[in-house]
Amino acid sequence: MRSVLLRAMELPRYVRKTPSSLRFFLRKKVAYSIYPYIFLPESIYENLHSENPEITFQALLVHEEEHRREQKKGPFKFALQYIFSTSFRRDEELKAVNAAIQYLKGKGISVDLSQKREPYDPRFLFLYPISEILSAEQLAYLVKH
Ligand SMILES: [Zn+2]
Repeated sequence: MRSVLLRAMELPRYVRKTPSSLRFFLRKKVAYSIYPYIFLPESIYENLHSENPEITFQALLVHEEEHRREQKKGPFKFALQYIFSTSFRRDEELKAVNAAIQYLKGKGISVDLSQKREPYDPRFLFLYPISEILSAEQLAYLVKH
C-alpha cells in the first residue's frame, strides 16, 4: 500500500474537505473524487488527520484513490461515462470497493456484511454506492475473492 496512508498527517494536498461552495451540489455525507480532487465529509477528513485514524475511513480514501486513478486517464470521458452509463458506473464502483476491501484484508480486517447498516453510515462509506446496488450475497462474494 502506498505510504500516503501510513501516516495520517501526510494526506496529499488533493484530498480536501468538501468545500462549502460545493455543498449545494454535493451531498455532505458522501465522499467524491472529482479529478484532480478527492472531497471528504468534514468529520472523516478531520479523523484521518487525527492520531488514530479510523481504518474504514482509510479504506474510503483507498476507494476514492482508485476512482482518481481511473479519472486521471481522461477526466472528462470518465465523467460522461459515469453519468450516462449504468454498467460503467457499476464496474468503476466495483473496482473501487474491491480496492478498499483488499486494503482492509491487507490489514487483517474482515468486513461483517451481515451487520445492519444505516444509510450513509460513515464506517461503511467505502462500500457506497455498491451496497445500494448489490445484495448482501454479492457483497459477500466480493469480500471472499
Ligand atoms: Zn465510488
